[in-house]
Order: sequence, then C-alpha cells, then structure tokens
Amino acid sequence: MLIRCYGARGSIAVSGPEYLRYGGNTTCLELRTAQDSVLVVDAGSGLRALGNRLVAEGRNRLTMFFTHSHWDHILGFPFFKPIYREESEIDIYGCPLEQGNMETLLARTMAPPYFPVPFRDLRARVAYHEHCRETRIDGLRVTTVPLSHPNLGVGYKFEEDGRTFVFLTDNELNHAHRGGRSFEEYAAFCRGADLLVHDAEYTPEDYERTRGWGHSLYTDALELALAAGVGRFGLFHHNQDRCDDGIDAMVADCRRLAAARGRPELDCFGVTQDMELALERGVWA
Ligand SMILES: [Zn+2]
Ligand SMILES: [Zn+2]
Repeated sequence: MLIRCYGARGSIAVSGPEYLRYGGNTTCLELRTAQDSVLVVDAGSGLRALGNRLVAEGRNRLTMFFTHSHWDHILGFPFFKPIYREESEIDIYGCPLEQGNMETLLARTMAPPYFPVPFRDLRARVAYHEHCRETRIDGLRVTTVPLSHPNLGVGYKFEEDGRTFVFLTDNELNHAHRGGRSFEEYAAFCRGADLLVHDAEYTPEDYERTRGWGHSLYTDALELALAAGVGRFGLFHHNQDRCDDGIDAMVADCRRLAAARGRPELDCFGVTQDMELALERGVWA
C-alpha cells in the first residue's frame, strides 16, 4: 500500500513560517491499495488538496473512512471537490458514534447558517456504510479498535501483502475515556506493525493542563511503539502551537529514549503533511 499524508496537525489548521516543515493542515490521509483503489482517512483541512489531486487525475471512485467527528477531522468535507461531481462514486464508512451516523454528521458541516452550499447540492453518488469491525477493499483488510477519546472514536489497522499500518489518532493512552481500551489492549492491536502513526500531541509540561482532553503524551505513544514492537513510529496530531523545532525536539527525544531502552532500530519520525511511504513486502520507499 502507498500512504500519503495531507494533514498531520491537530485541532485547528495553522499557517506561518514556523510550521513549514510539518505543515498546517488537519488530519487527512490517502491510501492506495496494491490494486490502485483510493482510500481516504478523515476529512480535515488536508482533504481539499487531496480532492484537487483526485480530480486532476480523473479518479472518480473512492472510499472514505472516518475516525470520529471532531471539527479537525471533518471540516474539509465541504471543500472536497469530488462531492460536487456527478461522475464521483464515494463509499463512506464510519462507526456510528453517539452523535449519529456519518451522513448526519457530514450534513451538519454544511447546515445553515454555517455554510452557504446546502448538503443536497452534492452531486456524487454516495453510499454510507456502518462499519465498526472488519471490511476489505481489494486485498486490503481493515480492522478497528475503539479510541480512548472524548465523544468516542475509531482507530484503524490496514493490512495488505503481509504489511501492516496502524493509525491511532486522537487517542489518550493511560487515561480511561468511556469506551476506550487499556494500554495493553492497544499494544496487542498494534503488535508487530510495520508502521504505527499515533497521537503524540503533548509534552509533560502541556499535560499538566491538558490531561483528559483526549490526546497522548509523546512519551506514552513511544511506550506503545516499544511495547508493540513496531518497525516505525510516526508522531501525529501535532499541537497547533508546536512549531517545527518543537516537533523535531520530541522526535529526537523519542530516538534517544528508544536507544536507551536498547531499541535503537525503532525508527521514530514526525509525520509531515507531505509524507509519502510505500509499504510493500520487503520494501521501504
Ligand atoms: Zn483531532
Ligand atoms: Zn478528536
């Protein structure tokens, strides 16, 4: 599978010279399967650029997955050009959260008086699927785990050709939100993954004020990567006030801590908004 990032920022999109390397758009990933199907994960502000790319490439069929419905994960949807095109065919998967199903939640992003274009003006053929456990797109298997996050959420594991990518954003390890799982259960879900991308929003200093807000200490996310024995660990959901140098410092600390634990081979990195990784059998590109 090919993994492309279009937004790695948390909470609110940002811009400015201090954010150039990691980027300012909120959560959006694209996965392309070995058979070249397009999967989209979350509709943060990064979705706009992905939509423009898909239109330019003439890609009309796509599948969307959602982790949850906080603003930073859905507010790119009204700016996603494929939804206004009659030739688009979109399958939308979401686990019904306590607020309602994905159709209701996405319609709300365009409800008056918050948005000028009505939801009924969508021209794409959209099919909504309630998905809470396992599904397959081509030969790619998608499984889920509940997140530990206010208002609930879903984490994903994508497996294809013997390679595994786990995506857990908006997940507060070591704090029990309703519906969440234990550290050990998350470690079991991530066990042996080639790539883990995990919420690593906070420093210990931040966390004195933000415990219970739904995001992890980067050191707790590192502990998960170590406990699960993953190959690569990507820090994600960068705080809106964290400049590039601040993320670099967290990554450097993760590398230092991993080496001190006898695991220098763990590849720690900060996910950038233009990250592109090919996850194929025996190959990193
Ligand atoms: Zn978020
Ligand atoms: Zn959230």
